[in-house]
Amino acid sequence: MTMATPMGRVLEDHDVGLDIEGLRARYAFERERRINPRQNAQYVEVAGDFSRYIDDPYVDKPLLREARQMETEVVVVGGGFGGLLAAATLKKAGIDDTLIIEKAGDFGGTWYWNRYPGAQCDIESYIYMPLLEETGYMPTEKYAHAPELLAHAQRIGRHFGLYDQALLQTQIVEMAWQEDARRWIVATDRGDRIAARYVISASGPLNRPKLPGIPGIETFRGHSFHTSRWDYAYTGGNSRGNMGRLADKRVAVIGTGATAVQCVPYVARDAGHLFVVQRTPSTVDVRGNRPTDPDWFAALEPGWQRERMDNFDILVSGMPADRDLVQDGWTDLFRELVLSWMPKDGTELTPEDIARLAEVADFRKGENVRARVDASIVDPATAEGLKAWYGMRCKRPTFNDDFLPAFNRDNVTLIDTEGAGLDGFTEGGIVSGGVEHSVDCVIFATGFEVGTDYSRRAGFTVRGVDGRTLADHFANGPRSFHGFHVHGFPNLFMLGMGQTGFKPNVTDMLAEHSEHIAGIVSAMGALGLSRVEATAEAEAAWLDVLFEKSQPIRAFVAACTPGYYGGEGDIDRGLLVNTYGGGSIEFTALLRDWRAAGDMAGLRID
Ligand code: NDP
Repeated sequence: MTMATPMGRVLEDHDVGLDIEGLRARYAFERERRINPRQNAQYVEVAGDFSRYIDDPYVDKPLLREARQMETEVVVVGGGFGGLLAAATLKKAGIDDTLIIEKAGDFGGTWYWNRYPGAQCDIESYIYMPLLEETGYMPTEKYAHAPELLAHAQRIGRHFGLYDQALLQTQIVEMAWQEDARRWIVATDRGDRIAARYVISASGPLNRPKLPGIPGIETFRGHSFHTSRWDYAYTGGNSRGNMGRLADKRVAVIGTGATAVQCVPYVARDAGHLFVVQRTPSTVDVRGNRPTDPDWFAALEPGWQRERMDNFDILVSGMPADRDLVQDGWTDLFRELVLSWMPKDGTELTPEDIARLAEVADFRKGENVRARVDASIVDPATAEGLKAWYGMRCKRPTFNDDFLPAFNRDNVTLIDTEGAGLDGFTEGGIVSGGVEHSVDCVIFATGFEVGTDYSRRAGFTVRGVDGRTLADHFANGPRSFHGFHVHGFPNLFMLGMGQTGFKPNVTDMLAEHSEHIAGIVSAMGALGLSRVEATAEAEAAWLDVLFEKSQPIRAFVAACTPGYYGGEGDIDRGLLVNTYGGGSIEFTALLRDWRAAGDMAGLRID
């Protein structure tokens, strides 16, 4: 292929060996057959008869305690890494009067709930596990497993004395703003009534499991559970497998997202027979986990974790850095997707050149990942089924060295529904392509609600000024100023809601945003003020900024295979367009400039 543009040479080199038109057609075909007009409504809410799917299986004994009537400066909703970072950051800023309210039996959030076999962080531990320098902890592996991550959340809780300031096994039922008292009144299912000047909501974007709306789901009489409530009483074993009780069981894992990719190798090893039900394959690239070298870790200079986090963020933002400290599948992916084709000689690229080069780089990486499937799988038909045909950023990329080889086992069958999902359930099994497979147990690796009503996901109602609910305010989609403040909901800070600069290393993002929120709370105290609220104008203007900045992402997401990144086809409900389109580096700078200006523009403070 020859092109007449100044970039022609680069394009020509870049395109070698790719059937661009063929790939475009294949991606479009695979997308089309997955479009579900019911979008998020295709899923079943875990309520009513399905509410057992969110019961806490990890609590040994229910907590009995008196209802509390108390006042506190700050209530933090949720004791995952977000809530812990918020409380720890406030503490470091001298704001000690904080109460964490957490529905689970302990801190940990994601890592409290997700104890499925094989669960591990997929961002390097040295940057994913927060506050390593402060707590003096050395992760045992480059990608630590779930028990270590849960233990680290507990370590942060102990280190910052947060257990004494927490109500565990406590679910908020309502939060209401009292204008006269300038306080939030937080009511819980244990009869507590807590008055707080500020509330930080850190309930997590992926916390409410969802079930697939497969016909007959309620008729299945075998055992079933969701991966975020793993039933070890049924399977035996622990997060490293050894699930002896599955030896004589026929098991179906529904879903092949990031969770399934991690747990399937373990279930494959232990189950009598495993059916993996696939609607859309994940991209599965090299993991390369390894133990931490203690000498290397001991030699790290103070400040190393921040430096490593920033270096990772620069690289996964597609910006050049003089070195790659993390050197893994993530940094490699973005180097290939963005940096590989950037002209080193400063040649100006037109937007068309950029679009073209980015597309080709994406195709090239996709071919690479598909070649890995061929190299890993013995049966050609199974290999064909496990190949992903969509842009690398349409779904969370995965990295695993055991998932693909699991399909070479005699006791593992891929049920590739080619985008359609299962036909249905019977009392004793699952049906696909008109064929029934009898199973004893169904494990739903079907993910979490994204883009549904905030109150439904958080599990409680939030009433702001004049009793208006957050659900009403968000009726046409979330709205905020900077992703933290909501007009009509004074002294409430959202942490992890979106509408901010998103970082794949989510804990780094939560740490940065916690610093920002703590800075505002401190400034309010220093100024002797007690009420802070986004103005309606600032909120509207931020939505305009988000819309404008999301234009390049919109085009990309609109062409993506459906998934929660793209709101299952309703892209405004999706994760990607609800982030700040300029990226995390630009957003960090924007916040820094906003703070430096010192006028709290966009906020009404008094
Ligand atoms: P996902 O939403 O990513 O995956 C859900 C899976 O269920 C998809 O494969 C989906 O198919 C499938 N599914 C949905 N409905 C049906 C149906 N009717 N029939 C068959 N299959 C169906 O959830 P996960 O729990 O895997 O991951 C959620 C997120 O959590 C990740 O994206 C990641 O951000 C995070 N995560 C992080 C990990 C880490 O850091 N270590 C590990 C695991 C998860 P389809 O794709 O067609 O919709």
